[in-house]
Amino acid sequence: MAPQTLVEGPTVASREAIDQFSMALRGDLITPGDTGYDDIRALYNGMIDKYPALIARCQDVADVIATVNFARDNAVPLAIRGGGHHGAGLSSVDDGLMLDLSLMKGIRVDPIARTVRVEAGCLQSEVDHATHAFGLATPTGTVGSTGIAGLTLGGGIGHLSRKHGLTSDNLLAADVVLADGSLVTATADEYPDLFWALRGGGGNFGVVTSFLFRLHHVDTIIGGPMLWPLDQAQDVMRWYRDFIADAPEEINGFFAFLTIPPVPLFPEALHLQKMCGVVWCSTGSLEAANDILAPIRAQIPPLVDAVQPMPFPALQSAFDALIPAGLQWYWKADFVRDLPDEAIAKHIEHAHKMPPFQSTTHFYPINGAVHRTGRNEAAFSYRDVTWAQVIVGIDADPANAAAITNWAKAYWEAVHPHSAGGAYVNMMMEEGQERVRAAYRDNYDRLTQVKRQYDPANLFRINQNIKPAK
Ligand SMILES: Cc1cc2nc3c(=O)[nH]c(=O)nc-3n(C[C@H](O)[C@H](O)[C@H](O)COP(=O)(O)OP(=O)(O)OC[C@H]3O[C@@H](n4cnc5c(N)ncnc54)[C@H](O)[C@@H]3O)c2cc1C
Repeated sequence: MAPQTLVEGPTVASREAIDQFSMALRGDLITPGDTGYDDIRALYNGMIDKYPALIARCQDVADVIATVNFARDNAVPLAIRGGGHHGAGLSSVDDGLMLDLSLMKGIRVDPIARTVRVEAGCLQSEVDHATHAFGLATPTGTVGSTGIAGLTLGGGIGHLSRKHGLTSDNLLAADVVLADGSLVTATADEYPDLFWALRGGGGNFGVVTSFLFRLHHVDTIIGGPMLWPLDQAQDVMRWYRDFIADAPEEINGFFAFLTIPPVPLFPEALHLQKMCGVVWCSTGSLEAANDILAPIRAQIPPLVDAVQPMPFPALQSAFDALIPAGLQWYWKADFVRDLPDEAIAKHIEHAHKMPPFQSTTHFYPINGAVHRTGRNEAAFSYRDVTWAQVIVGIDADPANAAAITNWAKAYWEAVHPHSAGGAYVNMMMEEGQERVRAAYRDNYDRLTQVKRQYDPANLFRINQNIKPAK
């Protein structure tokens, strides 16, 4: 039977195949023109606007299997959506099928075994909420609205990285629907190659329907920002560079250039001032954190010091309201081993040109516990560096899209020579195959072998794509 046009959209499959697919789903199959289509297809990055021909709102694993089988059998381009946060909009596809996991929200904490089972549609804040009730947490990122699925599969860097490793270092098992429609559970012992690849290799190998994570005792933390005027940035960066290299693992601090948002949280005199800062998170006692931070408070007293005891989820979601979904985003990343004075000077030069007021630069530490896993022990390769650096142009107004993009690109060009070479796949735009290869270094060839074994036809290709080995 010849393919027919679906509604008024593009031709993706025969009407009969689509009807059968729809009937096989417990969740809804959404098409252009359906109520809610525009809300459901919307991505976190407002700069990217894609129009899928079909959206399968999966309710369970059976729905995921039906969706994978339909896409494969009808050669329909397939995108997988977890939280929809990827900067490059890699969870959607024009004229194809979006497999939407956002309704799969189950979370089960086992406080005795200290594990949490998380379905793939959960956001970071939902996981924090569930585990905090038991005084437990698993390491995730720094913004509550981030999807747990994409975060984990790319690596997962955040406030607990130095103490407990990446999100993917705390993954114990993953349920995965493979390209042939079968479901497997990957662990260090079962499907070990697949498990190795899932720990940083992105969504290349199948649709993960749920994750099992290790939990740690993390309850009240000592956290929050310290801020300094930009004209003190050179001294602060030098101090921070030396401090974080061998700071106690219980403390994490990511360095930032930022513009103070015009909100009551900050003193009015500082509104729209460009500043630098460190956002701290210490899992030890208040006394221990004060001892660790005493030197910086004495040497370069911060203008704002909001470091205080707080429930861990409060820090995890502290910045969510400042960056709601739908803003324009353009980011450029690199891993960084050292910060010589020459690099610091370039950073400060471009921080002065930072467009107001959400654009920012972050240096996320990935030393400490992250270094205890070898660079070939999981797909995430850059474990011999100090930071994941990201330069982010952000603005609410689409008219400023070019300005934030140009700022991020020029800044990145200036500091890239000081980088370790590759970047974190979760903080890259679509930058071509060489950049994907650079992200994985000597793990790339093994990833292509695992890809050939589990997805030889590259069904899962709307991602930071790893091509199957020939
Ligand atoms: C505001 C903001 C803050 C961030 N902060 C941090 C941070 O602190 N630390 C950090 O490490 N990262 C951070 N990130 C980056 C974040 O990790 C990535 O954007 C990540 O991809 C988000 O996952 P998601 O599920 O929301 O994304 P999506 O856009 O839904 O998916 C991202 C990729 O993963 C694939 N994918 C999603 N779910 C699945 C699945 N179940 N199975 C297979 N493939 C899947 C998608 O196809 C896509 O290629 C941040 C991003 C934003 C926008």
